[in-house]
Amino acid sequence: MTGLNNKKILVCVSGGASAHQMPELLAALKAQGAELSVLAAPDAADWVSLDLLAQLTGTAVRLHSQGEPFSETRLVQVGEQLSEVAQAWLDDVLGSLSNEPFDTTLFLAGATAVERFPSIDQLGQAVLPTETGVPLPRFDIETILALIEKSLTPSVLADRRVLVTAGPTYEDIDPVRFVGNRSSGKMGYAVAAAAWRAGAQVTLVSGPVALSPPVGVTLIKVRSAQQMLSAVETIIGEQEIYISSAAVADYRPAQSAPDKIKKGADQMALSMVANPDILRGVASRPAPPFCVGFAAETVRVEEYARGKLASKNLQLIAANQVGGETGGFESDQNRLELFWPGGSKLLAWSSKREQAQQLIAVVAELFAARD
Ligand code: C5P
Repeated sequence: MTGLNNKKILVCVSGGASAHQMPELLAALKAQGAELSVLAAPDAADWVSLDLLAQLTGTAVRLHSQGEPFSETRLVQVGEQLSEVAQAWLDDVLGSLSNEPFDTTLFLAGATAVERFPSIDQLGQAVLPTETGVPLPRFDIETILALIEKSLTPSVLADRRVLVTAGPTYEDIDPVRFVGNRSSGKMGYAVAAAAWRAGAQVTLVSGPVALSPPVGVTLIKVRSAQQMLSAVETIIGEQEIYISSAAVADYRPAQSAPDKIKKGADQMALSMVANPDILRGVASRPAPPFCVGFAAETVRVEEYARGKLASKNLQLIAANQVGGETGGFESDQNRLELFWPGGSKLLAWSSKREQAQQLIAVVAELFAARD
């Protein structure tokens, strides 16, 4: 389940190009468990079947007819001198709704509209920029869902600069083989997404994974531990919080052969050298960011996790038991145990998304209380 389950959402449908995507959006919101109401502009019916919208939501569509018509295209087309009218209209719509128990109100507005009427943004609603210059702007449904979830999430990390590393690293033996590990990157990607939903400016440095980039996050793709180190070093100076969830390979082949190694003797030995410990390096900088590590352990979880917390000089460590049936690397579920100097918190089994959200809440609390 996502953060939209049981949320009451009012979707305002304009008489504009975005209206043609409303059935798709409403179906997606419904599938996430949201309770939907629809308010349509008088001219919305020119663009989409209101009966279809009513069927998708299971409730009648309300028409908004006061003040200015509810029209994205009109918002885009009006000149600067009419911005007050547009503003008054928005206030009118919002004012008439202010006593209603919606968790969020969703407006779709073209990028031009947002540029011309920055005050739309100040209304505290989700305003979704679209591509300009195309005849029918298409909203990316995943992006919209993420933006709505963000609008429903407390901004506990507002404008904080957060760097997350995720996934495995691949250490090449030759052009076709590598040494890697079973990290899927799911936990780190969920952490990056949760930090963004909490209002942070997030950069995600990721090893090779089969996941889509999280909405709103700046993604830097790397392959090896050394590439991860250099990506982290380039930007670490600007970061306030560093969350190291990557399963960095501890060793890499001493040499990576330029050509494919041919099959030969019955045995072959691979000489390996230690990779740099990226997290340890960051935490021992002169002015380190708030450092969060992960510890994947198979036994004596607390003891090893606390050991790493102290030896790597971290502010928080998230431990999980790997190797069991249910949790860990490739699973969608997890159960993190959080340890920090003077405290701990055991999270209940849940989705990695939920674990990430709770981890970010603890990070935000400890970060706010730091010296
Ligand atoms: O020592 P261990 O590998 O168990 O520590 C885990 C933590 O250290 C994780 O947060 C991991 O991302 C980080 N780490 C690192 N560079 C390494 C090894 C681990 O940043 N070479």
